[in-house]
Amino acid sequence: MPPHRHDHIDNESSLPRIARAAAPTNRTRRQTISDVLDKPAKTKSIVQEGKVSIYQPTQEGLIFPELLQFSSHAEHRQYLKERIVGACRAFSLQGFDYGFADHLTVRDSENPGLYWTNPMAIHFNQVKVSNLICADHQGNVVKGNHAINRAGFVLYAAVHEQHQDIVVMCHAHTVYGTAFAALGKSLVPMSQDTCAFFEDHVVIGDEAGKVAVEVKGDNKVANAFKSLKAAIHQNHGLLTASRHSIDSAAF
Ligand SMILES: [Zn+2]
Repeated sequence: MPPHRHDHIDNESSLPRIARAAAPTNRTRRQTISDVLDKPAKTKSIVQEGKVSIYQPTQEGLIFPELLQFSSHAEHRQYLKERIVGACRAFSLQGFDYGFADHLTVRDSENPGLYWTNPMAIHFNQVKVSNLICADHQGNVVKGNHAINRAGFVLYAAVHEQHQDIVVMCHAHTVYGTAFAALGKSLVPMSQDTCAFFEDHVVIGDEAGKVAVEVKGDNKVANAFKSLKAAIHQNHGLLTASRHSIDSAAF
């Protein structure tokens, strides 16, 4: 009997459209999801010039969510602090909390060398504008009374330092996310939700997902975030980043 390659998906009808469209006519060799991910399709932007989204209306005068303009750094900072608290509360509502280990950060509106984050050992549903802390890239808390999460600071300092365009990061040990991370697999573009991460996330399996708590020059998570918005840290949890907004990273 000839050697038969194992297919990850037996029912071809469950393959995403892109896989079926490219499937070979030779019936002895069906295409697998791995093939699709190994050779990603060349995607072409369909967003019109001058627009940020295909959903942006061409009709004038309609309300469409956009980045707000602020008259001062203080006003902008207050908005970011309220927004990061809102994201913490939303994570709590969704059950995305895990004791003291989760953290969200946003770069300060005025000083890019500082970032705001939730206080350590405070549940997401207890995070308030008044108990947020502001830290520098050396891990010093320059505003606020609470301790900083050591692993969070090492991670964010490395990412924010290496990628000046990243303004927000979220990290959580969600139940499903942590379970999926244990598999060491990337997301298959099989639904609209996962398509949002197609060619835009990475699985970090190096060192079996060891959490860095020491500052060093070569941070694997920071390296992985080059032009990507999400990472699945194997045996650990999920990380997202945004070059745009808190809302974008938290989603
Ligand atoms: Zn973690």
